[in-house]
Amino acid sequence: MPIYNAPLKDMDFILNDVFKADEFWQANENLAHLDMATANAILEEMAKFSKNVILDLNRTADEAGGAQFSNGAVTTPAGFKEAFKQFADGGWVGLGASEEWGGQGMPKMLTVLADEMIWSANPSFMLYPLLTVGAGMALNDRASQAQKETYLPKMYSGEWSGTMCLTEPHSGTDLGIIKTKAEPNADGSFSITGTKIFITSGEHDLCENIIHLVLAKTPNAPAGSRGISLFIVPKFLVNADGSLGARNAVAAGSIEHKMGIKGSATCVMNFDGAQGYMVGNENEGLAAMFVMMNYERLSMGIQGIGAAEYAYQNAAQYAADRLQGRAATGAKTPAKPADSILVHGDVRRMLLNIRANNEASRAFAVYVGQQLDITKFSTDAEAVRKANDRVALLTPIAKAYLTDKALDSALEAQMCFGGHGYIREWGMEQCIRDLRIAQIYEGTNGVQAIDLIGRKTTKCNGAFIAEYIAEIREFAVGLEDALAIKAAVLTVCGELEALTQFVVEQSKADPDFSNSVAVDYLHAVGLLSFTYMHARISKAAQPKQEAFFQNKLVLAQYFAAKVLPDLAARTQRIKAGAALVMQLPEEYFTAQA
Ligand SMILES: Cc1cc2nc3c(=O)[nH]c(=O)nc-3n(C[C@H](O)[C@H](O)[C@H](O)COP(=O)(O)OP(=O)(O)OC[C@H]3O[C@@H](n4cnc5c(N)ncnc54)[C@H](O)[C@@H]3O)c2cc1C
Repeated sequence: MPIYNAPLKDMDFILNDVFKADEFWQANENLAHLDMATANAILEEMAKFSKNVILDLNRTADEAGGAQFSNGAVTTPAGFKEAFKQFADGGWVGLGASEEWGGQGMPKMLTVLADEMIWSANPSFMLYPLLTVGAGMALNDRASQAQKETYLPKMYSGEWSGTMCLTEPHSGTDLGIIKTKAEPNADGSFSITGTKIFITSGEHDLCENIIHLVLAKTPNAPAGSRGISLFIVPKFLVNADGSLGARNAVAAGSIEHKMGIKGSATCVMNFDGAQGYMVGNENEGLAAMFVMMNYERLSMGIQGIGAAEYAYQNAAQYAADRLQGRAATGAKTPAKPADSILVHGDVRRMLLNIRANNEASRAFAVYVGQQLDITKFSTDAEAVRKANDRVALLTPIAKAYLTDKALDSALEAQMCFGGHGYIREWGMEQCIRDLRIAQIYEGTNGVQAIDLIGRKTTKCNGAFIAEYIAEIREFAVGLEDALAIKAAVLTVCGELEALTQFVVEQSKADPDFSNSVAVDYLHAVGLLSFTYMHARISKAAQPKQEAFFQNKLVLAQYFAAKVLPDLAARTQRIKAGAALVMQLPEEYFTAQA
């Protein structure tokens, strides 16, 4: 059976030493109730839940075919119901939610680490609370006081769950063309009619009610994304006293049969004049939904870290145990028929690639979490402004770069197993099947890259990234020259400045440019970010003598020498522009060869 042990020591190091969480929390009156001892106790509890309750269910759910659909009802895999009850009873659904609504008010820089463990152990399970928390965030931000009182406490307690209903058969990336209609009723509610597809947790048996957040168009709404409104559509209507009323006219028509995350129910949802209640202002639904989507996008990055960590642990253990061939410098274990494959440079290369990305990814998630905490808890207006810009810039990196690197990592981990990685026994093929979706949902990684290069870079003439680079450069200048990563950070800062200037100019000069090079630019900014994270890790690790910390300095050097050179190739591709990408006519792609 696959193994998983939460990387608690690394998590403590990142929170405590790299990001000085204690100091950050104490300096903020809204977070001063929290300290590292409490944070570590929370992480230790989650480590136990992940390993002891949901890890084995990941495999059994997949082997049993995942969630099942019959006559409009969805049955989650065996064990999910009990595990979810334990999760909800433990207060985990509302870990990061406001205490006002029954949550525990924990900061994001902590919850990202708790989330990583669930993603490692059982990604299908994670999707049930994930959508609830995201829906709760959108309601908290945009709903009326009465709506918050009705829905949020029940959602954060895990009695009710949430969904995000955007996608329609003809409308995915382009939500401006959705067809779902919202007709006003005399009592102020709306009748929602339409079909939504791919709805995660659209129907299931874990909770007594499901609160759908639905994008729809009111009559005479402006065309495109400016004419979209957001509605609450509960599965069961809620009476004035909070009890459940009649079944609403919304039901699952089927569930999808998918490549992975089979334990997660992905539903076609039919709304047949279902009663809905507008959230926020008419025609401002997409902005409201973005509150939820930005949260989910960071979560997809954490799905990536979780999977890559799980893949690494299994691959490293397998490599240590697997005996094949001899070390190039002579037998390491002459008494055995062969040496462990850990003696081979190529196997080490794969494991080090994974680890260099995983450790930077984890630090990056905590960094973005800390920026989100500043936006939520700080009272310093300038700090909040800066953090908001940073989150805007880095959300596409968190979603797309982390998941791209995670899939690369999972594939390299699979390769460490040779043929044994391709068969079910060791869990690698499921890991890859489950992880692939993270690059696709919540907006494909290509679309994330277009967001980064367009709205987050060209639109502001590179102002967001200029401020980010200034922070990184200031940090690097303060490093001791003896730290090998210092020179790499300063070089990358200069290269990204020049590259960004080129990207902004070319994007304005050539309408096809940005879409054609967006993914390369996203990877360039990702490499800048990971170099920065390795520098922060190195600075914190340097004074600590234990091998666990000193090894991080070597890993940072490995990253700079072996991973970072990818930046040169990315830059070259960006410089090659759009002309060759756009030159051939559309018929070329489908013409019979
Ligand atoms: C398992 C699963 C769970 C999901 N859960 C949910 C959910 O809970 N709620 C929900 O509403 N949706 C959900 N989705 C839908 C998901 O978010 C969409 O599938 C995704 O955003 C892509 O939309 P699409 O499938 O329509 O692809 P399309 O939009 O048709 O895109 C097809 C391809 O074209 C590219 N493309 C499209 N437009 C552009 C452009 N302007 N520039 C460059 N490239 C472009 C895309 O990157 C992609 O490669 C889920 C999907 C799956 C598979």
